[in-house]
Amino acid sequence: MREAASPRAELADLRALSARIGSDPLLIQGAGGNTSLKADGILWIKASGTWLANALERDIMVPVEIAPLLGAVSSVDPAAERAEQFVVAGLGASGLRPSIETTVHALMTQRVVVHVHCVNTIALAVRTDCGAELATRLDGLNWALVRYARPGLPLALAIAEHSSKRPDVLVLANHGLVVAAETVEAAEALLTDVTRRLATEPRSAPPADMEKLRALAAASKNVAFRLPESDAAHAVATDPACTEIAARGSLYPDHVIFLGEGSVIALPVEDAQAVVARIGAAPVSIVFPGIGILMREDATASADAMARCLADVATRIPPGAPLRVLTAEEHLQLNDWDAEKYRQELARKAARKSA
Ligand SMILES: [Zn+2]
Repeated sequence: MREAASPRAELADLRALSARIGSDPLLIQGAGGNTSLKADGILWIKASGTWLANALERDIMVPVEIAPLLGAVSSVDPAAERAEQFVVAGLGASGLRPSIETTVHALMTQRVVVHVHCVNTIALAVRTDCGAELATRLDGLNWALVRYARPGLPLALAIAEHSSKRPDVLVLANHGLVVAAETVEAAEALLTDVTRRLATEPRSAPPADMEKLRALAAASKNVAFRLPESDAAHAVATDPACTEIAARGSLYPDHVIFLGEGSVIALPVEDAQAVVARIGAAPVSIVFPGIGILMREDATASADAMARCLADVATRIPPGAPLRVLTAEEHLQLNDWDAEKYRQELARKAARKSA
């Protein structure tokens, strides 16, 4: 085992930044997103399944040796997706796996990397015509648009296609944003600059019909449903353009992981029980057009965060915009993946603990 010291002061700065961005639902939802610091050949990266919002209360940073991880990426070795085998024992958070997006951070040569599921970025990055818009908005920055690939080794390889340019900003198609800099302070400044440039004013949606929603929840006998944690989530149902966007399919990976494939939209005559009967399963959330959304009683906090995220993204997409949704093959890649099953299990454990 190699000797290494913990870069204490910088890690403290990074944890403070992580907690700040982690508490902004426009940047981070649930256990999504991650931050990292490189020092002495070690990558300090957020642990999988942990919340950036908790970065100050608990140690969520795991130290990973960079050289063998990068070696695995460059030889297209699946070991790159099991970064836990490169964890430096005795330092940092114990018993936790590094983020499934560790390779994203390792591939950036800058010391500090911040990856967020910024809703303003996603609202552009799901559009097939976003290239020109991004070029205008990010003019003057060293940025790249990375084609969609499943997080893990495929995304690492997609990012590596741009590495000769050493970009400071990556827009990940159907996924989110990465910014990188030499210090925590510079990374935060760049994040602020980029998210401002990519900002879109959301459409305001009519309020949900709470009385009807409560009645729908009460009428469901076999499967219990409840209101979502955030009222903002209802926009997917109360704004017709948002409902139409949701109906097209899944826009980004964490939606699939925590809410399932696409969105389940009730027909005008259907209550929750009829929806469950029609699709033969109890969905994590149901969209009742013109009324609002219901969450399954046991939906995790991450699922609630993703329900709100969909509303925040969809209200920023103009009606009729050309979108790319995840394909059947891409859904399979996400659902059959051990790393994601681990993250879902942690979300369920956290839900049981807080119940
Ligand atoms: Zn991500």
